Amino acid sequence: MKEKLIDLHTHTLFSDGRESAENLIKMAKEKNIEIISITDHDSVYVYDIIKNICPIKIIKGIELSVLYENKIIHILGYGLDLNNTEIRKYCDKVFKTSLKRTKEYLKILDKYNINLPKKIIKEFIEKKYPVQYERLFSIMYKLNIGFDREALENEFLIVKNNITMPYMNLDNTIKLIKSAGGYSILAHPYKYKFENTESRLDFFKRKGVDGIECYHSDAPKWFINYLIKYCTENKLMISGGSDSHKYYKNVDNKRVLGYGTMNNLCITKKDVSKKLIDLAKGFDLNK
Ligand SMILES: [Zn+2]
Ligand SMILES: [Zn+2]
Repeated sequence: MKEKLIDLHTHTLFSDGRESAENLIKMAKEKNIEIISITDHDSVYVYDIIKNICPIKIIKGIELSVLYENKIIHILGYGLDLNNTEIRKYCDKVFKTSLKRTKEYLKILDKYNINLPKKIIKEFIEKKYPVQYERLFSIMYKLNIGFDREALENEFLIVKNNITMPYMNLDNTIKLIKSAGGYSILAHPYKYKFENTESRLDFFKRKGVDGIECYHSDAPKWFINYLIKYCTENKLMISGGSDSHKYYKNVDNKRVLGYGTMNNLCITKKDVSKKLIDLAKGFDLNK
């Protein structure tokens, strides 16, 4: 039998993913994935609904947005205590802020005489799915509502800039993950295009990250190998995942759940740190 895969970086409707948690897990099962982590952006709500429905092993996770040198970078947190009040408070704050943005986006749509069925938006919000403007666009496409994307986007961006998210700096992010009993992992360093990767990684190590996401759909093989070597030499944890946001049968074949881009992932248990694998739990997340 083919060796089972793992995927420690995935998204659902609880952030900017296109799948419900139920579908994602079903797909993972179909694709021979034995361990998954759902790492929605600044949200742990997914774990409230999958408590008892998960037929594969799961590692509790989150992808936190971090303010770093006037940009946003991502730190993954694994094995967090989901009852930790600080984590909950943070996610609630982020969700509330996204709700504020949504309300403003809807006002703009009103101005353009675009009336989305209230039921759809209400349902999203009740489920704690954030309604970013990209999501509004996809709803409009689905409903065949014509609109001037550029004009709307310009107005939405003003709202986005005016209502800022309560993201933290690197120190506080790492502190938050630690205080919730989790490991912090620098997500997809390849995407940041650092000028001097080595000195940056040294910096993140000094700051206290526990590991690096070495395997990622967007990273070329040589970079993946470079990161693995760096982690091994520096005693940092090795992690990896597809960062899948879309349905895996999508045409562009990018960031495919479990497989990455052009099959550059296919990670198995032995490829990542055992400490991470040890976080995997079965059906009941409370166990
Ligand atoms: Zn990310
Ligand atoms: Zn991600």
